[in-house]
Amino acid sequence: MNLAYKVLQAHLKEGELIPGTPICIGIDQTLTQDSTGTMAYLQLEAMDTGKVAVEKAVAYIDHNMLQTGFENMDDHEFIRSVAKKHGITFSKPGNGVCHQLQLENFSKPGKTLVGSDSHTPTCGAMGMIAIGAGGLDVAVAMATGKYYLQCPSVIQVNLTGKKASWVSAKDIILKILQILSVKGGVNKIVEYTGEGIASLSLTDRATICNMGAELGATTSIFPTDERTLEYLKQQGREEDYVEFKADADAKYDERLDIDLSTLEPMVAKPHSPDAVVAVKELEGMHIHQVVIGSCTNSSFADMMRAAKILKGRKVADHVSLVIAPGSSSILAMLSQNGALADMIHAGARILECGCGPCIGMGQAPLSQGISLRTINRNFKGRSGTNDAGVYLVSPEVAALSAIKGYLSCQFEDDMSLDEVPMTPFIKNQNFFIDEYDPQTEVYMGPNIKPVPRGEKLNDDIQGKVVLKVGDNISTDHIVPSDSKLLPFRSNVPHLAKFAFSKVDDQFYTRAKENHGGFIVGGDNYGQGSSREHAALVPNYLKIRAIFALSFARIHRSNLINNGILPIVIDQKGYDFFNEEDEYVLLNVKESVEKDEPIIVQNVQTKETLSTQLTLAPREKVMILQGGLLNAIKELGGD
Ligand code: SF4
Repeated sequence: MNLAYKVLQAHLKEGELIPGTPICIGIDQTLTQDSTGTMAYLQLEAMDTGKVAVEKAVAYIDHNMLQTGFENMDDHEFIRSVAKKHGITFSKPGNGVCHQLQLENFSKPGKTLVGSDSHTPTCGAMGMIAIGAGGLDVAVAMATGKYYLQCPSVIQVNLTGKKASWVSAKDIILKILQILSVKGGVNKIVEYTGEGIASLSLTDRATICNMGAELGATTSIFPTDERTLEYLKQQGREEDYVEFKADADAKYDERLDIDLSTLEPMVAKPHSPDAVVAVKELEGMHIHQVVIGSCTNSSFADMMRAAKILKGRKVADHVSLVIAPGSSSILAMLSQNGALADMIHAGARILECGCGPCIGMGQAPLSQGISLRTINRNFKGRSGTNDAGVYLVSPEVAALSAIKGYLSCQFEDDMSLDEVPMTPFIKNQNFFIDEYDPQTEVYMGPNIKPVPRGEKLNDDIQGKVVLKVGDNISTDHIVPSDSKLLPFRSNVPHLAKFAFSKVDDQFYTRAKENHGGFIVGGDNYGQGSSREHAALVPNYLKIRAIFALSFARIHRSNLINNGILPIVIDQKGYDFFNEEDEYVLLNVKESVEKDEPIIVQNVQTKETLSTQLTLAPREKVMILQGGLLNAIKELGGD
């Protein structure tokens, strides 16, 4: 058996490990971050449950920390009170980025984790099955200890050889993205094997698992070994080590071989993480801003490598370099060992530990500017500047380029820090709050609005196509997350006004005037972050069905959780729909109940299209009831 299936098998509660079939697994740990967490906790509250049913649940505050108005602080206080009521660990703002903190403090080999953030797979570096999901799925996991998913197939990525100096973990995953693309991992687990693994530190592996999310993968996983033990020792958690690896004759559904010795520094060009080329192809490109940090590249080793390059040098006059360490422990260590001073002396701006520029909370680049970032995503507009070009690189390339003032991989010999010393961590626990009092009164500030509830499925559904879009519509297109909107994640009516504003500024008006309707999309609809609001907002606007050539995994689940039909169509089906025409889904309720094709009719022309909606039994109940919250009782309390 491969490692992924070993961990899944040990947690299997329903179903069999047959790719494509529905399964239910037991969950050991959950995490939320504030921008998805407010809604997840509103949903947990709506379930009227008690203490969480998992070993460890953590509520992080890392996305929304600007506090330019009362809204952010209202959300933080709401989350803190819910955490206390349900026995959830609360991580205060300033403690760091959720995935870095989860890895440092709570990750354990062989355990399962589900988190309301698409980069939850970061902890796959620790030999965990760690999956990103919508907030409602995480709320259900907290309430019941269970998570439902489609059993993924497993792709083996076999690493051989040893990477050269200046080639980093980021370059490995960028190379894999170049080969497999942003769709290459959909409904798959990426399992890493081979002798090349031994040369990768635990945090190198975390960078690779983190950006497995960009492949669209369900998750990624590494076996555990001496490097895992070394990291756990560094964290003072040696006793958590357990060896986990695949059997020698393990079976996989696909295989990809990567010889690490052939790799070179890579860069992903705007506006997709798989638009990858070698840095040398763009050597000399003028840049304006450099950002080092995010859950992808903010480990102690990443920071130390960047500091070594910056030490005794000066950031180019026209470049703004900003650095956000991944956790308060890392920041404390950098301040004690002098690396922080090296960064500041070079001219770097130090941000508080959190997501910051990665999620567009500050440090928006120059208009039409070029920003080099060590983050994982470079979708158009995510930085806060719609016409900026964001390029994704390793911390080493970022630091070097900041000094030179242009993109470069021409390193000098004295910049090398191949092996970062495994200094014991200065563990900072003062940002973690562990309280439990079931009598706690939940704080609800004026920014917090009720969760939208879907409608039960009717016999026919009639409405207009209020939007027709192309391929690769991301959750950020559906509900943007710039610094002005992030404080409204618990206020769906306000967010709705900005839905699809990046692709069609009339969408909200049309959806309101028509009392909802349908959306038609292309390939990979709903890619990108796990943003549940990309389904909550359409639910609030009464969008009843979305027809698309294909759906991203998490978004499809979020739509079903909200009672919205995610119907897959082919190119002929795509051409069948015209924006603003009126359609009716005939006998849709009966069709769903009986697993029969759904017939769509154009009300004007009477032309029809036969479509298919394949639903697992549990999904069917949710669609019929108008979403998971309405279906909780029927699903037996979960
Ligand atoms: Fe935060 Fe960016 Fe990581 Fe998301 S991808 S958790 S916004 S650092």
